[in-house]
Amino acid sequence: MTDATPLLGRSLPELQDWVVAQGQPSYRAKQLYQWLYERSIHNLAEISVFPKAWRQSLQAVPVGRSQIVDRSVSPSGSIKYLLRLHDGEIIEAVGIPSGDRLTVCVSSQLGCAMACDFCATGKGGFRRHLAPHEIIDQVLTVQEDWQQRVSNIVFMGMGEPLLNLDAVLAAIRCLNQDIGIGQRGITVSTVGIPGHIRRLAETKRVGDRPLQFTLAVSLHAPNQAIRDRLIPSSRHYPITDLLQECRDYVQITGRRVTFEYILLAGLNDQPEQAEQLAQLLRGFQSHVNLIPCNPIDEVEYQRPSKARVDAFADALRQQRVAVTVRWSKGLGADAACGQLRANRSTATLPA
Ligand code: SAH
Repeated sequence: MTDATPLLGRSLPELQDWVVAQGQPSYRAKQLYQWLYERSIHNLAEISVFPKAWRQSLQAVPVGRSQIVDRSVSPSGSIKYLLRLHDGEIIEAVGIPSGDRLTVCVSSQLGCAMACDFCATGKGGFRRHLAPHEIIDQVLTVQEDWQQRVSNIVFMGMGEPLLNLDAVLAAIRCLNQDIGIGQRGITVSTVGIPGHIRRLAETKRVGDRPLQFTLAVSLHAPNQAIRDRLIPSSRHYPITDLLQECRDYVQITGRRVTFEYILLAGLNDQPEQAEQLAQLLRGFQSHVNLIPCNPIDEVEYQRPSKARVDAFADALRQQRVAVTVRWSKGLGADAACGQLRANRSTATLPA
């Protein structure tokens, strides 16, 4: 951590070190901590309990907050945010209401290198990793804008979280321990990167607490041939290896894994493919989340009819696979799964 590292994301002991290095009494760290995480300030000059002269000298210290450059509300009530980062890059985050709950769909990278055929983010390629504060900021931004506490976080925005695992774990530590969001309300979604699911399992802890968030794996296919067609990286990572890592994950962490399965009309939505999927997952402590595909401009994939989705889900249930269907709520604002993109020109955005 350098002096230029923003303060957002630091734990109380780290803030104590920083405050003392500034020549201030260490009790000021507790105040700083509260203003950063409870009042979600954007600038240290806002901390009115600090002595005036010190406050003014702190104005240029980076807190790590972004600027909202656009927010679009979808008919279902989800709000998609375009956030400008310190280097001018734009990322997307989505606030999703559901009963009393408020879920934030966060990005973990700017763009994505995985190039899954059905996903808009992959079409623009990879630009850079997000730092922990850039992930935490997305949650604080939604919490502030909604004037409501965030209950759930899904790492299902732009990027592949396991390729930026250290930053993702640092962000989860802070969101959990400093901001108070339960790990059980957090889901990290991955397409699967060789060795990384095991590495995550072996991490075992997030900060000083046991790992308790949910791992979701984007499987999307009942066999290798279809997965290869949809997910380029699958060719170097056979499904059998991926599932073995998932089994190890369950064994090491004692936690279930969720499998995500995008439903693409005529491609992977047939009842016999549901049976094949059930065979693949036999004996597995798992849960399947079906995602009827959300349309994107570049490719022709279609969402199956509701009857087809129901038939696929029923076929899985008959094989005693636990299943839920995720009808995305962000469709109207191009904010649904797979519709977030990093390659928009900043010149076209409102200032
Ligand atoms: N890289 C991670 C997380 C980002 S995507 C991953 O692959 O899991 C979050 C989820 O949305 C993934 O399951 C992804 O496959 C899915 N998704 C991507 N494009 C989609 C689309 N057009 N329609 C529906 N779901 C999509």
